[in-house]
Amino acid sequence: MMKDLTAPIVRELLKKSQHIAIIAHVRPDGDAIGSVMGLYHFLKKKGTKVSPILPSIYPAFLGFIPESEDILIPERDENQESEEALATADLIFVLDFNDPNRVDSLKDILKKSTATKVMLDHHLQPVDCWDYGVSDPTASSAAELVYNFIELLGEEQEINEAIATALYAGICSDTGRFKFNVNGRLHRIVGHLIEAGADAEYINGQIFDSMTEARLRFVGFCLSERMTVYPEYKTALMYLSSKDFRKFEHQPGDTEGLVNYPLSLGNVRFVALLKEGKDRIKISFRSKGDFSVNAFSRENFSGGGHFNAAGGSHIGTLEEAKQKILSLLPKYEEELVAEF
Ligand code: 5GP
Ligand code: MN
Repeated sequence: MMKDLTAPIVRELLKKSQHIAIIAHVRPDGDAIGSVMGLYHFLKKKGTKVSPILPSIYPAFLGFIPESEDILIPERDENQESEEALATADLIFVLDFNDPNRVDSLKDILKKSTATKVMLDHHLQPVDCWDYGVSDPTASSAAELVYNFIELLGEEQEINEAIATALYAGICSDTGRFKFNVNGRLHRIVGHLIEAGADAEYINGQIFDSMTEARLRFVGFCLSERMTVYPEYKTALMYLSSKDFRKFEHQPGDTEGLVNYPLSLGNVRFVALLKEGKDRIKISFRSKGDFSVNAFSRENFSGGGHFNAAGGSHIGTLEEAKQKILSLLPKYEEELVAEF
């Protein structure tokens, strides 16, 4: 059973550890990198050796986060530094995921490690394999949970520009620019982050208004050529083949946020975006209202996530995955078309 974090426990854990690793999920988004780097900058100030790790490369537009070039990532390591750091750390912080399989090639090292593992996460249904932690699906982001962690220690005054920038980036990414899971407390936290040095206009500009022309045209292509709306199920389906990715010289992060566009349609409340990968079809699900894409993904695509934002995958062809989703729609029709 995962134990709750208290200030004395955290102080004791930090005091006795020599090397802390911090890791988030594969295909990191703004919250994954923001929460990792926020906690990294906070812990580094204490003088302990800290290694920030990501299982795969982050989108280039998140490279503005201070010292992101120091993050250990297997695909850009020359000497397996990420594996080494994760294997030798005596305290590991697990941020923005709750299932050890979400770290891709690093999962065996993470599972085998005898380090104390502390999870700070906001996804549903955590796997019970962590020593300590917080599982709060009502939290906007893992970055908010890192802020709470700092607050638990009574050290909010330690929040400097680097910490504030990283945490702000995490919060504005996961709330879709302060649209989802926001409340008064979150806005007060954000207020403090701005006072502590986060430049809101700059960060929003970097994350949301720094597209390349190729990426924006790719979005246009996806919406005009690859989206089908099924009004009878209030559903939209989008798909991208490996050929599409090659044609548009796709870069990591180019499809970030794409799945949200069809949700802006008044008659759509469920969206699936299917992406053909090397060994599987990766699927992103989004919904608005009370249709749980976490449940839909868990039940049918070995995935999970949040109530209104989840992911999963299908081993097989793109066409099969599309047909599978279409054939499932009648089963969920009642939930999908119910009045808000
Ligand atoms: P995205 O569609 O943006 O990749 O992911 C949406 C949300 O679902 C994110 O919070 C992400 O961490 C989570 N998620 C994505 N793919 C998976 C998956 O395969 N399994 C689980 N458990 N969660 C996922
Ligand atoms: Mn998150």
